Amino acid sequence: MSPSSPSPSSDPIEGSRGGPIEGSRERTRSCATGLVCHRCDRHYPLTDTVFACPDCGKGLDIVYDYELAARHFREIPSSERPQNIWHFEELLPIVDASAQARVGRYSGYTPLIHADRLGAELGLSNLYLKDDSTSRPSLSYKDRVVAMSVARLLELGREEIGCVSTGNVGTAVASLAAKAGVDAYVFYPNRLEDTKARACAALGAKVCQVEGNYDEVNRRCREVAVATGMEFANITLRPFYAEGAKTAAFEIVEQLDWQSPDHIVTAAAGGTLSSRLHKGLGELQLLGLAETDPTRIHIAQPSGCNPIATAIIAEEAEVHPVTPETAAHSLAIGAPGDGYLVIDAVRKRGGTGGFASDPEIFAGIDLLASTEGLLTEPAGGTTVAVLEKLAREGKFAPDDTIVAIITGNGLKTLDDHPPKPWPDKIDCELDAMLAALEGIGRRPSPVVA
Ligand SMILES: [Zn+2]
Repeated sequence: MSPSSPSPSSDPIEGSRGGPIEGSRERTRSCATGLVCHRCDRHYPLTDTVFACPDCGKGLDIVYDYELAARHFREIPSSERPQNIWHFEELLPIVDASAQARVGRYSGYTPLIHADRLGAELGLSNLYLKDDSTSRPSLSYKDRVVAMSVARLLELGREEIGCVSTGNVGTAVASLAAKAGVDAYVFYPNRLEDTKARACAALGAKVCQVEGNYDEVNRRCREVAVATGMEFANITLRPFYAEGAKTAAFEIVEQLDWQSPDHIVTAAAGGTLSSRLHKGLGELQLLGLAETDPTRIHIAQPSGCNPIATAIIAEEAEVHPVTPETAAHSLAIGAPGDGYLVIDAVRKRGGTGGFASDPEIFAGIDLLASTEGLLTEPAGGTTVAVLEKLAREGKFAPDDTIVAIITGNGLKTLDDHPPKPWPDKIDCELDAMLAALEGIGRRPSPVVA
């Protein structure tokens, strides 16, 4: 196969609409070769719209020509690649350059922050935060995965996209669909973060609030997809959606100058992020870009919804579904679709699972805020709380390189955080303001001689 035609297939891209954007290539450098069942290894062409294996019902994965990808990587230096989710396009599943050019050009490449002050609290000198709370356009890691879904939608020539969301998928779909010029429909289980549902509507998406928890609404949305023919970002487009999560692993390793961290700590809900971090790390090693095998992945869940962490600790291969009861709404998935993949990833990498109660989660939010100046949502608070527990349990050496992924932004969930003490309004007078400072606990300043 010639290096100038990275796609394994010379077939036209089925259903593609519109010509390539000026200056772009017709095809991306994607080295994706097809779809494969996670369990029974049955293969499907990349153009197929199947999203679950007809034989065994399990999800499908994307497979790549890694030899070709390794050659392509050497051809274009990192400095000449776009600073967005398409930086590693060889290992992403979108082959239509015009679809790719319309989505996610400002997504990804979030900062990797040396958390010196939080690290000092926890006795860790090389602690880093992958700050996806500042991801564009919708302030959560979901921009990475939804961008893949929307690009795939455009590749298929479709003009409407649905999703079921615990919160952040909805806002990412609303944002990225608007920019791509397609209609968005968001199904929101009741009792989740209201602000996020309102944000979807403010971004122009049509929002349906549904009685029932995430898992119930998710099951019903599969039926809606079949009945309407509508593509769903995280259901019918799931094999493509999931690949977007690998970009976080690629970026972390590159930002550490191609040194894979000793540990990654991340929250888990459906299990997409943690399982695809594992896949992404493995691909970097396959391509000879970094030694990633030693990196351990630890997952964090709320005590009120911890089916994956429980299975990991009990050394079971499958997840037993639970009914979520947690303030970390974006992690409230009781029947995680990719749970078995997470268990496999954590086991192979020698990591662990941990969980945190709601008060511990909000204490984690406060700790991150007061040390690093980052306001995260309860999912990020869960990660910080479990990171703290693992550090206290001695799971890390003091100079290990540890990356905690902060997946979402606290400005989106502030209405759900416990209220802080809030003094009465005072007069705009010096004496009143000095008294107020004392009242709210200002530390005495050193006496100037
Ligand atoms: Zn199968």
